[in-house]
Amino acid sequence: MRGRPCTICQHPKRSEIDLALTGGKSTIRAIADHFQVSRHCLERHTKGAHVHRGLDIEQTLAVLQSLSADLTATIAEARQCQDQRIKRGAIRQAQETAAEVLRCTTL
Ligand SMILES: [Zn+2]
Repeated sequence: MRGRPCTICQHPKRSEIDLALTGGKSTIRAIADHFQVSRHCLERHTKGAHVHRGLDIEQTLAVLQSLSADLTATIAEARQCQDQRIKRGAIRQAQETAAEVLRCTTL
């Protein structure tokens, strides 16, 4: 590999990012926002053909487990919060995560 190593390849949620990139339902901007990475890094990862297409069963299960943990944490936070605006934001975030879970299970 030339130059700096790819930050997406080394990202702890790389499998989830690859799934989001290959799902075709999210824009680069949405994926960048969701995983808090730069669009530039995502584009470099994609154009450098680093994206793994198709995860094996164990990787898929690990991704699903991680996403469902995110979902549980988001819902728990929303329940404890008194601010309706933040609650609505948390619900939107939980819905996005649920959509990702659904997408993973239909691979
Ligand atoms: Zn990469």
